[in-house]
Amino acid sequence: MSRSHATALRCIDCGATAALDYRLECAACRGLLELQYDWDALTHAGPSVFTGSGLWRYAPVLPIADPAHRVSLGEGQSPLLDCPTLGARLGVRRLLVKFEGSHPTGTIKDRSSATAVGAALQFGFRATSVVSSGNAGSSIAAYSARAGLRSLVFAYERTSAPKLLHMAATATDLVLYQGVYDDLITLWDRLVDERLFFDCGATRNAYKHEGKKTLAYEVAEQTGWQPPDIVVAPAAVGETFIAAHRGFGEMERLGWIARPPLMVAAQAARANAIVRAWREKRPLEPVKIGYTVAEGLAAGNPGRKGEWVLRILNETGGVAGEAEDEEILETQRLLARSEGIWAGPTGVASLAVLRRLLAAKALDPDATICVILTETGLKTEASAPSRQAVAFDEASLRALVHARLGGAA
Ligand SMILES: [Zn+2]
Repeated sequence: MSRSHATALRCIDCGATAALDYRLECAACRGLLELQYDWDALTHAGPSVFTGSGLWRYAPVLPIADPAHRVSLGEGQSPLLDCPTLGARLGVRRLLVKFEGSHPTGTIKDRSSATAVGAALQFGFRATSVVSSGNAGSSIAAYSARAGLRSLVFAYERTSAPKLLHMAATATDLVLYQGVYDDLITLWDRLVDERLFFDCGATRNAYKHEGKKTLAYEVAEQTGWQPPDIVVAPAAVGETFIAAHRGFGEMERLGWIARPPLMVAAQAARANAIVRAWREKRPLEPVKIGYTVAEGLAAGNPGRKGEWVLRILNETGGVAGEAEDEEILETQRLLARSEGIWAGPTGVASLAVLRRLLAAKALDPDATICVILTETGLKTEASAPSRQAVAFDEASLRALVHARLGGAA
């Protein structure tokens, strides 16, 4: 089992460092914290420091020290799929899809749940908690169950039925909440200090956040350490976006890749606080949001993580874009039909945003572009297609098959 090279926590605002404790913000300035590693040892070891498979292959650049705390349901190693048919349709020279729907609970959340629940064990907690639109709730509950921890999951009342079923099956304590995520998360954040549960939310926990960084390391390995020119990542509060950027930045620092990809932040038009601030070149302001089919992107107040996303965009010349619900649903169908990939609306939003940015000539179509699709479509709730059924005898069956496929042979 490989050793974690994590050394400290470091404030992203004032640079103060702290020991590897359960700490959610800087003691000096309340800034967000990020993990630091022994860069010299990693540079010396090179990429061969990674051994084994799955998410814990990347244990040297993750903050869970004791192998006994590295809880797993078989996450990681999601496919990176070349999509030539869809790429040609969008006019992109090379289009790659990192399909996170292949994870044990069907979403990218399993990357962060593995390290969040691992950290809960590391710091001696017996319960976890999360406020969720559905995906994080199922994932944190599943990993908590796997680790033998209680899980108190607050789930949005309009969460899809498949996600609700999944949470009800895996969580020890499931509570549905009314109203919007932003209001409840503000109240819930205040309870974290009482230490009755380990914070598995997306807003502050550096240990949880860190698991998603493995996505970048996988993409680099899957492309022979020549990562794509552009990566499109969804941004609700910004966890996936920041983590992917961090991962590529670390590899550049270690000399394992020549340069990190240009990052594109994708939001739903109905929850577009980051896009607005970026476009209008002003500080982030919360927006009042309504329902969006991209449930996992329904955050009107991305808070300090949103400011971190904005900082990354501004410092690196990144791009932010948005898509309407109708565009997201149309893109979901297009992806399924053109490449056979069935992703949920939250997951496919980043692809819908890419389509819009290409149409607006805001991105270079000669680039290699990788889109992160964060969830399976199998947890989507929608009206079923027609259930009108047909009875057959041999002659009518033959007639139908010839009518449908007669010209195809
Ligand atoms: Zn600080």
